[in-house]
Amino acid sequence: MTVHRSVFVTGGNRGIGLATARAFAELGDRVAITYRSGEPPAGFTAAGGLAVRCDVTDPEQLEQAYQLIEERHGPVEVLVANAGITRDALLLRMSDEELAAVLDANLTGVFRTVRRALRPMVRARQGRIVLVSSVVALHGAAGQTNYAASKAALVGLARSLVRELGPRGITCNVVAPGLVDTDMTGALPDAQRAAMIDGIPLGRSARPEEIAGVIRFLASARAGYLTGAVIPVDGGSGLGF
Ligand code: NDP
Repeated sequence: MTVHRSVFVTGGNRGIGLATARAFAELGDRVAITYRSGEPPAGFTAAGGLAVRCDVTDPEQLEQAYQLIEERHGPVEVLVANAGITRDALLLRMSDEELAAVLDANLTGVFRTVRRALRPMVRARQGRIVLVSSVVALHGAAGQTNYAASKAALVGLARSLVRELGPRGITCNVVAPGLVDTDMTGALPDAQRAAMIDGIPLGRSARPEEIAGVIRFLASARAGYLTGAVIPVDGGSGLGF
């Protein structure tokens, strides 16, 4: 029998988050996403998805989002902490604001989002959590000290959580995408993009759906014994030269 779950994807109005939300919706799951500004993605709400306006750096908005999701879809059973930003600069020139903004969204935002999901998961003695990190967390990138530090921190967060809540049937895994075609990478200069693609054995960037498929697998019954893993989805770029 197929069990349809309550799935929550932060930053689900575009890019990897939207592809992930659609991948779960295809299974018949009850999917909620957050959006910060503008309108929810066309078609997603019309197809029965729930879009909640929420900035994950604002604890009150996050609490309200959870309350609405729980009311409409029931307690979150699958959480995908995907929302993230970049504020790139070389460290010598990076401001405290650029550091704080990235840590607030990419680390503190994830910490709070995960913490709020836990109590119902503990009660239910099951839950799936996937954190969206980056290959940059493991390999570094010039101009991204703030971003790489925030994404590397997710590995420590996930693995500590696994030790705390593994006995309660909750899994937590980290996905580390390489170069993915989204708005986040759309502004890269052509030369930089070409140099990045040169370092990818598959010779191309990823489509958001290729990250979404791995996230969906990590939340599936077949991945029930997989926890605390960091899964690179990077076309082989993490192998190095
Ligand atoms: P996009 O820039 O296309 O989308 C980012 C998403 O995060 C948007 O939905 C955005 O909402 C949301 N978001 C950002 N900050 C907040 C916040 N404070 N509160 C709520 N939502 C927020 O990025 P991608 O789809 O490319 O990235 C998704 C995740 O994947 C990020 O964590 C990113 O770091 C990671 N990643 C991306 C890679 C890539 O090559 N694209 C590679 C490796 C990792 P809004 O539209 O309202 O701004």
